[in-house]
Amino acid sequence: MVSSAGEPQILLHPRSRVVNILPSAVLQELILAVGSEWVISDPDRLLVYEADAQTAQKLAPQAVVLPSDTEEVSRVARVLHRHGVPIVPRGAGTGLSGGALAIEGGVVVGTSRMNRILEVDPENRRAVVQCGVLNTDLSAAAAPFGLHYAPDPSSQTACTIGGNVAENSGGPHCLKYGVTSRYITGLRVVLPDGETVWLGGQAREAPSFDLVGLFVGSEGCFGLATEVEVALVPVPEATRTLLAIFETLGDATRAVTSIISVGLLPAALEIVDQNTIKAVEASIFAAGYPTDAGAALVVEFDGIDAGLELEAEEAARCCEVAGARGVRRAESEEERLALWKGRKKAFGAMGRLAPDLLVQDATVPRSRLTEVLARISEVAERYDIQVANVFHAGDGNLHPNIVFDRRDPDETRRVEDASKEIMRICVDAGGTITGEHGVGADKRKYMPLVFSPQELEVLRGVRGVFDPEGLCNPGKVVPELEGGR
Ligand SMILES: Cc1cc2nc3c(=O)[nH]c(=O)nc-3n(C[C@H](O)[C@H](O)[C@H](O)COP(=O)(O)OP(=O)(O)OC[C@H]3O[C@@H](n4cnc5c(N)ncnc54)[C@H](O)[C@@H]3O)c2cc1C
Repeated sequence: MVSSAGEPQILLHPRSRVVNILPSAVLQELILAVGSEWVISDPDRLLVYEADAQTAQKLAPQAVVLPSDTEEVSRVARVLHRHGVPIVPRGAGTGLSGGALAIEGGVVVGTSRMNRILEVDPENRRAVVQCGVLNTDLSAAAAPFGLHYAPDPSSQTACTIGGNVAENSGGPHCLKYGVTSRYITGLRVVLPDGETVWLGGQAREAPSFDLVGLFVGSEGCFGLATEVEVALVPVPEATRTLLAIFETLGDATRAVTSIISVGLLPAALEIVDQNTIKAVEASIFAAGYPTDAGAALVVEFDGIDAGLELEAEEAARCCEVAGARGVRRAESEEERLALWKGRKKAFGAMGRLAPDLLVQDATVPRSRLTEVLARISEVAERYDIQVANVFHAGDGNLHPNIVFDRRDPDETRRVEDASKEIMRICVDAGGTITGEHGVGADKRKYMPLVFSPQELEVLRGVRGVFDPEGLCNPGKVVPELEGGR
């Protein structure tokens, strides 16, 4: 799967195979490190780990180990480092850029057993968790204290805090609250050679280089974060949620620009387009969105009750001026969840449209949303493919999702070509190649669109500080030079 130039071969060929067999001496040492029950080497069981949620690329690892704590991760890392075997961290595997795949062979270190909440400290509004804790489990543990963990990826019932750290994940409410990096104050990290370090800690501003900031978003290439200290925030006192229905996608994006430009800051501004609405309404997730609408916009405000009403009224007016044919308001928590349903279940519903789904992720300046979406629609028409848009509109973070059938080689080729063109359109509009799903294996080939050769060299240098041997999640993020460095 790796060409002579060191670039991963194009992604949409799903042949799955185990790369080499791990020497039995290494396997034995891994068993000694974590116990035989927690080492998987049976090829059938390894298939579970052959892909993440971006199923375009599949490749099973040589083995999987499931340690239970920092000490065991450290032992595993030492074994692999000594034998020169790549180590690939993996949380829940909900990633959408192929980040948790052993694309250059090696051993996946799964964090599913590292799921303990170690401390909730309401007085200081912080918590310390093992990396395999699920995002929603952390908020559930903080809820009795009136607190929650703010970054809320739509996958939050499944994805891990470690995965969120590695991807610097966002989510619908990150428009107001900010993404993961804003909430991580300390990390216990096992480096690729097995050494353990604490980065950051209780004092928010460590008097040194911001190593926590550097690690967040490092996509598993700097080591494995085993414990994470997070900042918690109060659960908002009240919310106001609106669903605005538009004839066209352009009207919906104009409403978004208008809401922000009048000075409002909603907690969330999320759009689904007509193809998505149709998929949702035809599924078990039907949310009552009108299927003839061009787009639906969910607007949510939260915070102290006083003042929210005025903000919601002003946002509704912005939607009407932009051409909304109707604006619904949630009058109860039940109605609020119903308005959100069409947005939250969109990815699941797309499974109805075709056997395969390529979830794209790019960010553009908010003011360019209307124009960029029109160009994406033109690309879809030209390549005769179906694109369904569901996205964090307030952040300018697009998800043009392409549904297709990979058994059709011609369609698969058209999807690849259209994908490249969409990336270029976003970059040309002043945007970038990922908003929240990371570069992983999937977007590595697009890095030269946004970084100069000198800048890529800086990235390689930073990676080398943490991982001089290039054994930690190789084949991800930074394109290799000719000759393999
Ligand atoms: C339906 C759906 C909706 C989604 N919605 C959003 C969204 O709204 N916002 C968003 O940002 N993302 C979203 N995602 C993408 C994905 O859920 C996030 O990227 C998430 O953070 C991945 O977490 P994970 O535990 O599944 O990590 P994995 O997929 O297992 O791994 C992701 C990356 O993190 C690394 N990694 C995992 N654990 C560790 C660790 N402990 N230490 C170091 N590196 C580690 C892996 O090597 C890999 O590179 C969505 C995905 C799906 C399927």
